[in-house]
Amino acid sequence: MKNVLLLFTIFISHMAIAQMKDTSKYVLVIHGGAGTILKKNMSPEKEEMYKQTLQKALNAGEKILASGGIALDAVEAVVRILEDDPLFNAGKGAVFTNDGKNELDAAIMDGKTLKAGAIAGVMHIKNPISTARAVMERSEHVMMIGEGAEQFAKQNGAEMVDPSYFFTQERWDGLQKAKKADSLKKKADTVSKKAIRQLDNPDNKYGTVGAVALDKHGNLAAATSTGGMTNKRYNRVGDAPIIGAGTYANNATCAISGTGWGEYFIRLVMAKTVSDRMEYGNQSLNEAATDMIMKKLPSLGGDGGLIGVDKNGNITMPFCTEGMYRGYVKSTGETAVKIYKEE
Ligand code: ASP
Repeated sequence: MKNVLLLFTIFISHMAIAQMKDTSKYVLVIHGGAGTILKKNMSPEKEEMYKQTLQKALNAGEKILASGGIALDAVEAVVRILEDDPLFNAGKGAVFTNDGKNELDAAIMDGKTLKAGAIAGVMHIKNPISTARAVMERSEHVMMIGEGAEQFAKQNGAEMVDPSYFFTQERWDGLQKAKKADSLKKKADTVSKKAIRQLDNPDNKYGTVGAVALDKHGNLAAATSTGGMTNKRYNRVGDAPIIGAGTYANNATCAISGTGWGEYFIRLVMAKTVSDRMEYGNQSLNEAATDMIMKKLPSLGGDGGLIGVDKNGNITMPFCTEGMYRGYVKSTGETAVKIYKEE
């Protein structure tokens, strides 16, 4: 009897150690937008700049996760770094609306509590992702827009900036090209469709930024931030701040952040559908995400990509465009930063 008890005690302590090991796992996946990103169109200097910022963001997030910090803190820290870099269509590098403004959207979600916060159409908040988090943690709401969201941001100590902070020449030029395409469309009979398409989406590239993480405590979180789509009108809001479309996290399944043609991500309820396919359809994260991005999205005429991590630390990064700025780091030491399709 004594021996049985001893064996049982050894078995239990082994289980405990195994569990402890398991909780030391963390994973971080990030993106900086998808689109027609071809090596032949990229200078080595620019490629290096993109990679450096993606690496810097990964390092900052990993530091938090490795020291036992929570997934929410990691995804917020990552997105803030990408928001501050003019290369990406979020924060500083946001694209212009039709009337020459920058209207920013962002969302964050905590997979542990299913709490979420989002803001849309803001024009003076330096780091929208942090205000999205404040909405989640310091208000009884999930989503705030425009002036109200800005008032809330101020009350909660957000750094406010003059709209001129968001000016970048590249995005301004992008708007002019998109407007030219608009006027060409009106003469569509005489102009080739290809010429319009090239102008329509100036660099054929989305630049939304996002991060998803699994922390050592088994919690998932997702964060997404964007300037939306160039030449947008009428206070258009995209998928990024819509919980379940561009952003979703649930400890029972996965955390997702998307980038691409937002209208299609909203119509497909992209992020939540990936989660539902896992929860109710028994699909793996990769199966669910790949089918949604490579089949369902193009079948409607949309394009883009997403990043995801599941509760076991498996990751996915599918995209149906030429490239997607992306990277990941795992507690196992595996890490990569990639841009193009064939990498
Ligand atoms: N998904 C974003 C939007 O539609 C655009 C992007 O990914 O850059 O607002």
